[in-house]
Amino acid sequence: MADVMVTAWSNGDGWLSVDTAEWIAERAEHCEKLTDDLREWMENRDFKHPTTDVLVLWVKDRTGEDPVGLYGDGLFWAHNTCNIENILSDDLGFVVFSAGGELGDLMVTMSGDGGLYSQPEVYRDTTTDTVYWGDYAHAFGRCVNDHEWETYDGHRLQRYDGGLSDASPTISGQARVPFGDHQRAYVACPECRKSLRFTA
Ligand SMILES: [Zn+2]
Repeated sequence: MADVMVTAWSNGDGWLSVDTAEWIAERAEHCEKLTDDLREWMENRDFKHPTTDVLVLWVKDRTGEDPVGLYGDGLFWAHNTCNIENILSDDLGFVVFSAGGELGDLMVTMSGDGGLYSQPEVYRDTTTDTVYWGDYAHAFGRCVNDHEWETYDGHRLQRYDGGLSDASPTISGQARVPFGDHQRAYVACPECRKSLRFTA
């Protein structure tokens, strides 16, 4: 469970965030050897950016096979979180796939800040289900009175085991900054106004 930070500038203006490195660390282990190998391989072939096409070529070169979906199931999966509807502290473009052979199940970062391509980092996948790679917008919150709320889009709050409606409160709307002190920013429980403690 990663810690979720609340950042708010004033009452009614705030958001949740999870440290991106921590979020990744809960799902994968950094693999320096493969990172070096991929970077060197790209450099030798004059590839500037780790696009999905380039990554497919790298895998084919190393294993003789096309990468497939994680755990050998389904499709090669790429995602970019370069939008406001997530809770990661940094933008992150990444792919998850199964490379087969000795390479195994991998996650490779392709881009960072603002969606710009960056030097790839290769990680070994440690998840047991691909859904963990898609939950970059989910957080669960509970107040001292045991009211439970969660978000699936980093924006709106819904009751745990409840649904969304037009009247669903938003995280930004529930953000509170007591005495203008940003250090004490919190998201107020829509039911009792106590602070919600979030995990993701
Ligand atoms: Zn409450």
